Amino acid sequence: MASFSAAQPLSLPRQPILSNSNPNRPSSINEHSRQTLSFIDRCTDITHLKQIHAHMIRTGLFFEPFSASKLFASVALGPFSSLDYARKVFDEITHPNSYSWNTLIRAYASRSDPVQSISVFVDMVSESPCRPNKFTFPFAIKAAADGSILPVGRAFHGMVIKSSLANDVFVANSLIHCYFSCGDLDSACKVFSTSRRKDVVSWNSMITGFVQKGSPDKALELFREMEAENVKASHVTMVGVLSACAKIPDLESGKRVCSYIEEAGISVSLTLANAMLDMYAKCGNMEDAKRLFDTMEEKDIVTWTTMLDGYARLEDYVAARHVFDSMPVKDIAAWNALISAYGQNGKPKEALEVFHELQLQNNAKPNQITLVSTLSACAQIGAMDLGEWIEVYIKKRGIRLNFYLVSALIHMYSKCGDLEKARAVFNSVEKRDVFVWSSMIGGLAMHGCGREAIDLFFRMKDENVKPNGVTFTNVLCACSHTGMVDEAKRFFDQMESAYGIVPEHKHYACMVDVLGRSGYLEEAVKFIETMPIPPNASVWGALLGACKIHCNLSLAELACTRLIELEPRNDGAHVLLSNIYAKSGKWDGVSELRKHMRVTGLKKEPGCSSIEVDGVVHEFLAGDNAHPMSEKVYEKLDKVMDRLKSTGYEPEKSEVLQIIEEEEMKEQSLNLHSEKLAICFGLISTKAPKPIRVIKNLRVCGDCHSVAKLISLLYDREIVLRDRYRFHHFRRGQCSCNDFW
Ligand code: ZN
Ligand code: ZN
Repeated sequence: MASFSAAQPLSLPRQPILSNSNPNRPSSINEHSRQTLSFIDRCTDITHLKQIHAHMIRTGLFFEPFSASKLFASVALGPFSSLDYARKVFDEITHPNSYSWNTLIRAYASRSDPVQSISVFVDMVSESPCRPNKFTFPFAIKAAADGSILPVGRAFHGMVIKSSLANDVFVANSLIHCYFSCGDLDSACKVFSTSRRKDVVSWNSMITGFVQKGSPDKALELFREMEAENVKASHVTMVGVLSACAKIPDLESGKRVCSYIEEAGISVSLTLANAMLDMYAKCGNMEDAKRLFDTMEEKDIVTWTTMLDGYARLEDYVAARHVFDSMPVKDIAAWNALISAYGQNGKPKEALEVFHELQLQNNAKPNQITLVSTLSACAQIGAMDLGEWIEVYIKKRGIRLNFYLVSALIHMYSKCGDLEKARAVFNSVEKRDVFVWSSMIGGLAMHGCGREAIDLFFRMKDENVKPNGVTFTNVLCACSHTGMVDEAKRFFDQMESAYGIVPEHKHYACMVDVLGRSGYLEEAVKFIETMPIPPNASVWGALLGACKIHCNLSLAELACTRLIELEPRNDGAHVLLSNIYAKSGKWDGVSELRKHMRVTGLKKEPGCSSIEVDGVVHEFLAGDNAHPMSEKVYEKLDKVMDRLKSTGYEPEKSEVLQIIEEEEMKEQSLNLHSEKLAICFGLISTKAPKPIRVIKNLRVCGDCHSVAKLISLLYDREIVLRDRYRFHHFRRGQCSCNDFW
């Protein structure tokens, strides 16, 4: 078929001007119209369409509804469509037909302007004689889904029923998708189970919906039903089911799906092969992943990244690095994969080393994704100097500060303990999306500024930014650190009813934490018992932490047993329970647990504290001698302890984790705690008024907490200590947590 290039002017058919006074013209006009309309399909740019538009107005062809709708469809949905221009063309059509209305609704819906799409729908219903039909609803409902506007979705559903379109399979499928997007899973299931006609898309919408909404086991259940009803699964079904297996993770089911694909003869595209690979990797089966990988003829960046990440998850960093080194193209995407593989698997120090390596070569330059991952590694390890350097780098290189980067900067400064700098970044930007707001709310929460975090939540609402699941996690966390139980309950209750966000495990865990920390342990247990989803490890972990604060041995045992059932390799749970036994003097319990850990080969995660001095991160393990300056550090520690003792300080011996009989030994092992070493290193290598910033991987013990308070007073140094749960700002002998953590 002939096509035009932008350089050639159009030669349109010459024809007599169509006169409105004589609407029933002979067929020769139709021949001309037909020719003109056939040009529409062959246009290659918007200029040509505009020429045809002008020509059609001149000849009057535009005022014939069918022809106008044909031109309009091309302007609105064609490959070089322009929405603004399309809107102008639409407004020129005197009596748009249903097709034109549907086209405009569809155009806005496909260009992610759901609000406009819905408002055109309203115009159609109120201003035109056209009734919405089975072609209108799927797009209008898609708009409601994209905007997650549940009330509108429900209103459309009502209209669908009134128009007797509920059994149209396209309409029903769009309703299912919409209810999932808005988080109303019950309604999605209702539409699915009551619709008389189901096709493979209906099943796929349900399966994908459940995977995305965190119920992968439901997705697998549906897949089994689908098989029982002899519905032929498609490529999309398989990708959905595999990602369900990856999320659970359920290797057995995953393998069954792989054989199903083979038996059913479903052609394995790159996307499907990547989904299979991802399932193996997430289930920790790198042998099968490697076998599949070696047979794959086509590989893309997702393929390589999946392998890399799979090895990193198993902490096989040699293999991960080997994947990186074998990548055919080491563009920035490859570097990003390596940095995030380390960063997301608890190896921030290695992630930063890769970032330094990247800077030393010339083939790839860091982009926004690189900087976001690197900032996240800085946040984990407390490398604020590097974080600041990245902020300067962004400005100097003129890298566009997108929402991800802004959120990452706020998060980095908050997690490194400099809330002021986090605030400065937040205030320096004019536009903020939900992640930027959530990041700042999270920062305030972790520093114990609960009130301010909640105020910010309402400011965000005033600016019409819709909160998401992350926002609520941070708001609930703010309530928890500040002991605001009633507020937390209110927020939790509103999540689904007012914002359409279905609470997930992390939200339940936050609520258990709020209730538990404030001493409502029984209520926390009742709360867990009434959860609509089975409680996971983080929920029991929250209860266990609270039991420790309030020394509730019987509930701690319950929580710990459940936790260990779910995570048999959870060293933290074993240690926490052994601490609780130790605190109440139940040494039999302690020794039994220790024996169990020895037999099962479970090791307690060693305490580790890091401190950044002049851009270099120094790590100290408990009782560590590996640091080149450790001799000087221990010397300083002795001096500090002597000075503290001269003012009446006494070590809190009940904090000792090991069972050491002699009192003196107890004191010595307390002295070896990594945070004390890091603080002493800070005293030697930095000067006031620079605060000493220490990051600890475990929860800070009571003795180190008292010591840090005293050092802040006697040495007049500000100490910012981040432990696993929160921040402690020590200033002039006081801590920001008010000794509640
Ligand atoms: Zn300690
Ligand atoms: Zn504190």
